Amino acid sequence: MPCSAITITKPKTQPDQPKIEQRIVSAHADPILLSMWSHRAWVISGLVGYMVADLWSGVYHWVIDNYGNTSTPLFGDQIEEFQGHHMWPWVITKRQFANNLHDLGRAVTFAVLPIDLFCDNPIIHGFASVCFGCILFSQQFHAWAHSTKSRLPPLVVALEDLGILLPRSQHAAHHRPPYDNNYCIVSGI
Ligand SMILES: [Zn+2]
Ligand SMILES: [Zn+2]
Repeated sequence: MPCSAITITKPKTQPDQPKIEQRIVSAHADPILLSMWSHRAWVISGLVGYMVADLWSGVYHWVIDNYGNTSTPLFGDQIEEFQGHHMWPWVITKRQFANNLHDLGRAVTFAVLPIDLFCDNPIIHGFASVCFGCILFSQQFHAWAHSTKSRLPPLVVALEDLGILLPRSQHAAHHRPPYDNNYCIVSGI
């Protein structure tokens, strides 16, 4: 019995097909698909957010390294943790991911939530998401800066060597006399 059950029918060309194609081609040049300066500003605001996060991490680190103690309201635990870090710097490499970041996660949530709820500007969202994202992960970047190269993923080593994440050698200077520099822990820019 011949296999004639399957027949292939050629799609008929619709009379208006050229018009559709023309519309698709012209859509590529449609102004609503192009990047405008407001869109590019969204990208630039992310870069600014990355640098502001580094600066903020440095200022905050400098304050809690040098002022207050365990009895300071609200910040006592963090002050104890950071000042203790100078006595036992390797401990941060033993902390598991969530243990190391959960305090910052709480602070970042309180800061980001009102921006998300009450602001509808993509430039501010670009800035806030990168800035607070970097602040959230800054303690992980700090922990990586205390690890040995052989224990880090190759991508992290590459980003540290490029200075995109806090370089190990740069942060080592913070733990050497006179103990008053290199406070930034996102990129160390
Ligand atoms: Zn410190
Ligand atoms: Zn450190």
